[in-house]
Amino acid sequence: MEKEQLIAEMKKLVGEDNVLHSDEALYAYSYDATPGHTYMPDVVVSPGNVQEVSAILKFANEHKVPVYPRGSGTNLSAGTAPLKGGIVLLMLRFNKILDLDLENLIAEVEVGVVVQDINDYVAPHGLIYPPDPGTVKTASLGGTICENSGGLRGLKYGITKNYVQGLEVVLANGDIIHTGGKNVKDVSGYDMTKLFTGSEGTLGVITKAYLKLVPKPEASASMVAVFNTLEDAGNAVSDIIAAKIIPATMEILDNASIRTVEDFMHVGLPVDAAAILLLEVDGHPVIVADEKEKVLEVLKRNNASEVTLAKSPEHKEQLWTARRMALPCLAKLRPTTFVEDATVPRSKLTDFLKIVTKAAKDYNVTIGTFGHAGDGNMHPTIVCDIRDEEEMKRVHQAMDVIFRGAVELGGTLSGEHGIGLGKLPWMELQHGKAGMEAMKAIKRALDPNLILNPGKLIGEC
Ligand SMILES: Cc1cc2nc3c(=O)[nH]c(=O)nc-3n(C[C@H](O)[C@H](O)[C@H](O)COP(=O)(O)OP(=O)(O)OC[C@H]3O[C@@H](n4cnc5c(N)ncnc54)[C@H](O)[C@@H]3O)c2cc1C
Repeated sequence: MEKEQLIAEMKKLVGEDNVLHSDEALYAYSYDATPGHTYMPDVVVSPGNVQEVSAILKFANEHKVPVYPRGSGTNLSAGTAPLKGGIVLLMLRFNKILDLDLENLIAEVEVGVVVQDINDYVAPHGLIYPPDPGTVKTASLGGTICENSGGLRGLKYGITKNYVQGLEVVLANGDIIHTGGKNVKDVSGYDMTKLFTGSEGTLGVITKAYLKLVPKPEASASMVAVFNTLEDAGNAVSDIIAAKIIPATMEILDNASIRTVEDFMHVGLPVDAAAILLLEVDGHPVIVADEKEKVLEVLKRNNASEVTLAKSPEHKEQLWTARRMALPCLAKLRPTTFVEDATVPRSKLTDFLKIVTKAAKDYNVTIGTFGHAGDGNMHPTIVCDIRDEEEMKRVHQAMDVIFRGAVELGGTLSGEHGIGLGKLPWMELQHGKAGMEAMKAIKRALDPNLILNPGKLIGEC
């Protein structure tokens, strides 16, 4: 379809004010937080209600126009990159918290709401919505549902899929469906809520969700432990879990990450340490006191050279800010940052960290590794310069070793950032031919004209 005609049709459906098509606007939506993937869309459309989404998809399906749903564009897998032109469907006008049901502990929320705003809204009621990606203050609910995002609290509280109980979804042909809802138990039919959660905009456009809320823990204790070897840090993680303690958070920073954060933030991190673990236990005050002692014991047993307890809420905030700043600080080192999120069973954490360290050495690339140690979810972060072809060749070789290594250890290509475009080359390695074909069959059944985020997650089909 001609671009001008597409723009005119979109204006008819959502009004002139909600359609962008200047060169500047199209460029602004041609990429997301992932380096190396810039593709110009034909038009950016912001629907304001589910009927408008339905009308847009019906039109796009009839005319086979690609549609790329988009929230805040912070994903790290090129999930919103408009690979084949067409429509960027911006969902940020869906910005209302529709209901807070305190009897069922359920919030009914539109997908354009920023995740932190959900927490701010429910906090006065003593409740939390646990999924907390590093982008909690910018990411939209819809984006986090479609990436099935995790975060710092994933170890104890789980990830987005554990809190999404129901969805309103517009299918590729414009049909509107509802999945799940307020029922805690619901085994009526296939679990469509789970299917759409993590579907990266390839199966339908989500417009609102029913979210499970949980009571805010009464107390917490945070600490930082310093290690002289990666092995000791990795073993401490496994031993804490083996001692049947599930901290709310158990994060690791390797030496490269520690040095970089300290260089930029000057918070007193130990720059000679091989690794630090940041931990938080939470719950009833009596249990917190008991778990804190047990964790200290395990850390000591695993040769932590120093353990510091957060002395005040400000000190605690400083520790967690240091962790959250790991990625932004590493990103300042070089022009291009690739943040990966390969994940392994936590018992294999040390083996995986060794693979990453060796890959960095073998291919002479700079990799800072930090991440959710308790989940086995690491973020090997490669800083480089995308304009340097020779360096990029080495970067891709290192990535290949890291992804293959994770899969060989029984891990996965992605713990939370999704597949998008970046990890497609390794999908068959993890899922096999038959596994890929099963996923493609689901895609073809729900989106036979392949208009929704084409080329992502399962590639061409
Ligand atoms: C500094 C930094 C730190 C990060 N830390 C974490 C972290 O700790 N944990 C983590 O899990 N992720 C993290 N991320 C990745 C990212 O923030 C998350 O993936 C986030 O969930 C994306 O939300 P978004 O609104 O930006 O989604 P977008 O990037 O806009 O979209 C993400 C995907 O969802 C699809 N989509 C968006 N809205 C809809 C909708 N309504 N219907 C259908 N499909 C839709 C898009 O097509 C795309 O495939 C981080 C990213 C950065 C840059």
